[in-house]
Amino acid sequence: MLVDTDGAAVLAGGQTLINVLKLNLAAPTALVDIHRLPELRIIKPAEDGALVIGAAATYAQVAADPIVSSAQPSVAAMAAGLVDRQVRNRGTIGGNCCLNDPTNNFPPLLAALDARFRIAGPAGERVLDAADFFTGTMSTALTPDEILIAIEIPPLPGNARIAHRHLQIGADSWAVARAAVRLDIDAGIVTSARLVAGAVQNSPVRLHDIETTLTGRTADASLPLAALEAFDDTRIVTVDDVHCSAAYRKQMCKIQVRRALEEILAQGSRS
Ligand SMILES: Cc1cc2nc3c(=O)[nH]c(=O)nc-3n(C[C@H](O)[C@H](O)[C@H](O)COP(=O)(O)OP(=O)(O)OC[C@H]3O[C@@H](n4cnc5c(N)ncnc54)[C@H](O)[C@@H]3O)c2cc1C
Repeated sequence: MLVDTDGAAVLAGGQTLINVLKLNLAAPTALVDIHRLPELRIIKPAEDGALVIGAAATYAQVAADPIVSSAQPSVAAMAAGLVDRQVRNRGTIGGNCCLNDPTNNFPPLLAALDARFRIAGPAGERVLDAADFFTGTMSTALTPDEILIAIEIPPLPGNARIAHRHLQIGADSWAVARAAVRLDIDAGIVTSARLVAGAVQNSPVRLHDIETTLTGRTADASLPLAALEAFDDTRIVTVDDVHCSAAYRKQMCKIQVRRALEEILAQGSRS
């Protein structure tokens, strides 16, 4: 249907798409409902130890699955805390990523976890990393005849620590800044760093300057300050909007980075 019908759209949880249709912002010629396809809802460990989450797994399913809680607790926690019960029961992790609304929860966290995106289409399957999958505001590398079938998250070493912080305006509103951070810390030294900003730009932004600055440093209270000093906000391309100015958004992004690092320092190692 997706291949044969020009203008067909995939319907997953419908938490965004149905609203888009109600507002006449899109007019697909057909809807291909993937929500109940069991193979797209499988959650399992892969042979290489990665966690595989089917694209149509709902947030509620992700939150409740013991395999997710054990392998990737930050993913389970994010799914459990997302919006409200209605959205969690219908919305899907794949839909969250395919929509790539810049304010969405999952893209920055999954980018920080080095997630891979498995795609299927008429030419077969391909796998992209976050930098290649998220291409712009509400757009991804998916072509119209492809679907996301699964998200694969590499296993975490025992020394990995993860934190995600965000600021939203009002309890049920959109985020204006997010930071997802993963540090691997060995014998008190940061051996690997992933810092990803969200809600500030059209797609998740890797903060490479900060990653380089933090790698090799002692994981102590000086870390957040070092990160702020390395934060080059000219790399973030954002705009004034109805919620806040671009300058405020950048400032709030810095604060989320600092808070995420403070949270990581307060955590014990997973091992
Ligand atoms: C009241 C409310 C509050 C919300 N607040 C938040 C929030 O705070 N944070 C947040 O992250 N999200 C929020 N959302 C959005 C929600 O998380 C959506 O569920 C999500 O963005 C889209 O997921 P879905 O499964 O509902 O996808 P759908 O609405 O069904 O689809 C969204 C888009 O993705 C495409 N798509 C979906 N799955 C696939 C796939 N497997 N392959 C190819 N294309 C696909 C569809 O064609 C469509 O273009 C909110 C939604 C509501 C209704």
